[in-house]
Amino acid sequence: MSKVLDSFLHENLEDLKSKGLFNVIDPLESANGPIIKINGKELINLSSNNYLGLATDERLKEVAKEAIHTYGVGAGAVRTINGTLDLHVKLEEKLAEFKHTEAAIAYQSGFNCNMAAISAVMDKNDAILSDELNHASIIDGCRLSKAKIIRVNHSDMDDLRAKAKDAKESGLYNKIMVITDGVFSMDGDVANLPEIVKIAEEFDLITYVDDAHGSGVLGKGAGTVKHFGLSDKIDFQIGTLSKAIGVVGGYVAGKKELIEWLKVRSRPFLFSTALPPADVAAATKAIDILMESTELHDKLWDNANYFKQQLKERGFDIGHSETPITPVIIGDELKTQEFSKKLIDEGVYAKSIVFPTVPQGTGRVRNMPSAAHTKEMLDQAVAIYVKVAKDMGIIK
Ligand code: PMP
Repeated sequence: MSKVLDSFLHENLEDLKSKGLFNVIDPLESANGPIIKINGKELINLSSNNYLGLATDERLKEVAKEAIHTYGVGAGAVRTINGTLDLHVKLEEKLAEFKHTEAAIAYQSGFNCNMAAISAVMDKNDAILSDELNHASIIDGCRLSKAKIIRVNHSDMDDLRAKAKDAKESGLYNKIMVITDGVFSMDGDVANLPEIVKIAEEFDLITYVDDAHGSGVLGKGAGTVKHFGLSDKIDFQIGTLSKAIGVVGGYVAGKKELIEWLKVRSRPFLFSTALPPADVAAATKAIDILMESTELHDKLWDNANYFKQQLKERGFDIGHSETPITPVIIGDELKTQEFSKKLIDEGVYAKSIVFPTVPQGTGRVRNMPSAAHTKEMLDQAVAIYVKVAKDMGIIK
């Protein structure tokens, strides 16, 4: 290894480790369901984005097996050469129906969807108004586009209006986009989409909502945009197939011409192999299930409300989440990591989240109760929370 790389890696890794910022990865020896197995031990799992339990749903497994039987395990090419299977077309039609839009396009992940979509439309002559807590993939997508990035204070509508007005009146930009998460993944708060749409209409902004954590969760499952009744007002509805949908992939739903443009101009669609058949079939089935019934959605909310109430009553700081995302805020990074480690020792897998994923000094253990948990599992998890937190002096 080159000497300069060797010292760069060594010094930086040691620095992270000494500050408690080095993330240790524990491989699962089981499916990522409500109970997981790590190092031979069964744990109650509160760290997965598998909100509805669909990642292990038998109906999804069945269609995935059938798809493998018929189409094999790989799509074999990029979408624009001959990697587009009829399964991809069906998925995209289903996504458009699910999101109440004219059309949709699927990508290999939510992350690469943001990289793809923003840079296909925005360029160096444009500006993007981006909430300061937007997901890393949005930030990277904005950077890739080379547009001027204007950071907006988190969910601060006065700041957004003032910056939109300045950008518009400066006459410097051809296009201006406002971009936000639908649900913010670290705190569980919901974007003020009605106000964002008003500001967008006033200044002719392109609207872009990444609803990775809202789909399957808000709007009776259809997402944050539907929750606010704004399906015809948002230009880009982004989603992931990896969280509530339980599989993998990302998508944009919107007007037909927008999707046509993305199909000819977004680079991961043109230059990276299409999603595998089993995943496409499973994701399509998941959306069918969500559109047919709100049973899983209702169970998710029932469990989430119950779990949050239990933690709150015991004196934990659970922030201001409006969704099932339940942070338990500890603050100090090392203490947060110690807390999470002790929870794991006692039988609850709730992973610590620290800087740079969240601002310094706001370390938290983030909990994701799901439709697949039973009340008994949640009660057991709360009892372990209380024991560990009392031992560490976090609660009285
Ligand atoms: N956008 C947001 C808001 C997310 O929370 C995530 C997942 N962490 C992504 C995009 C990336 O999605 P995926 O895991 O499908 O790449």
